[in-house]
Amino acid sequence: MQKTVIGNWKMHGTLESAASLASEISNYVSVSALQRTKVVLCPPAIHATKVLENIAGSTVSLGGQDCSDNEQGAYTGDISSNMLVDVGAEYVILGHSERRAGYAESDALIADKAVAAKEAGLIPVICIGESLEQRESGEYAHVLESQAKNSVPHGFHANDFLLAYEPVWAIGTGKVADNETIHVTHEHIIKQLPQGSAIIYGGSVKPENALEIMQIPHVDGVLVGGASLKSNSFNAIIAAAEQEGD
Ligand code: PEP
Repeated sequence: MQKTVIGNWKMHGTLESAASLASEISNYVSVSALQRTKVVLCPPAIHATKVLENIAGSTVSLGGQDCSDNEQGAYTGDISSNMLVDVGAEYVILGHSERRAGYAESDALIADKAVAAKEAGLIPVICIGESLEQRESGEYAHVLESQAKNSVPHGFHANDFLLAYEPVWAIGTGKVADNETIHVTHEHIIKQLPQGSAIIYGGSVKPENALEIMQIPHVDGVLVGGASLKSNSFNAIIAAAEQEGD
């Protein structure tokens, strides 16, 4: 079974550090001759071309961290899905909790972005996740159901997207959801999605917990923030994904 390991570099790095990180990861991927693991790097858009130069010749793919729902026009600061494709991206993260919270992105907007991304030829990685209050109040099942139903566009098939389950309370906090929580939650989410959809987990994934997490049923990979910024930790997570696929 294929696993997908995605690195979300967020707003970190310089051209120089992006080049070294990308080349250390792509060298590792090439030497390891991965059979079952797809690796995707999502640098800040302004570093995309530099990253692409440094993953050239490897099986590592480039992704964006967001895109507009519009094709082009007077949208200062935005990046269209076609622009991402133009620089060589194949994936785009959409609806990350930092964008839902910081930029008030709604499920409807995320679905529109996903449509634009798919039309441009990208694979959207659509993120959903509950807050700590929603987890503790028991509301989380309903919240996730509604996010999944409304952020994944109607008419999408399983191969059109990846769903990333990222509990907000586990992102960047060092608090990882326990295995049972991930298992039960992925099982619940999968029922809301087209048959055969892949779900990846995100939230404080590190080399120490990656293998365990990837062994949980219905976990088809991981979305990694902090631990994707150092090649030794990210490469160890890639190794765990490949091992689990054995
Ligand atoms: C993320 O930002 O998508 C994420 C999962 O971050 P971290 O791995 O640092 O928790």
